[in-house]
Amino acid sequence: MRILIVEDEPKTAAYVRKGLMEQGYVVDVASDGFDGLHLATTSRYDLILLDVMLPGLEGWEVLQGIRRQQPTPVLFLTARDAVEDRVKGLQLGAEDYLVKPFAFSELLARVQNILRRGSMQSEQPLRFADVEVDPLRRRVTRSGQRVELTVKEYALLGYFMRHAGEMCSRTLIAENVWDMNFDSDTNVVDVAVRRLRAKLDDPFPQKLIHTIRGVGYVFDERAQ
Ligand code: CA
Repeated sequence: MRILIVEDEPKTAAYVRKGLMEQGYVVDVASDGFDGLHLATTSRYDLILLDVMLPGLEGWEVLQGIRRQQPTPVLFLTARDAVEDRVKGLQLGAEDYLVKPFAFSELLARVQNILRRGSMQSEQPLRFADVEVDPLRRRVTRSGQRVELTVKEYALLGYFMRHAGEMCSRTLIAENVWDMNFDSDTNVVDVAVRRLRAKLDDPFPQKLIHTIRGVGYVFDERAQ
């Protein structure tokens, strides 16, 4: 398992690197945004730890640059415990975030969680209505047409398909798709659902994602 750390504080980078290497991970370090983006998009990593405040390119820009090219999971590290920061990172497609300063054990738990989630994904194709998900190729089609999704949108669709016809509350979605407790900012869920809808439902007459006011969503073929 290869991990890239993009972090400009040498002490933090060295401490995280050492801890992860002791756990058997192969670790590279980039100390500014440009190097980080370059490494992230030219080498293959299983996970990227990304600081938000970086010289060169800011963490957000690095994240957007990575997402334009690949779905490698990103755990971002932020010194600012601001809700807007967390929401922004997650909306840009990060898997999870960690607020500095953090204990290594906490970082390791997040890292293992993200990597486990990636490898636990079922390899059997999922089908519902005219939607098909091929987990091996991470390929989604609807009525035979390719639908390009971000990592989060893909995870969200997987959750919906495994729970088709069931009431999926925002809290359940937040816990299962982001593996986090959002407390009051389940807005992240709504934004992700809106984006998934725009790609998966808007181009087709039959809508599959239905909003249940005040509760959450149901994924099924019910009439509008
Ligand atoms: Ca920094």
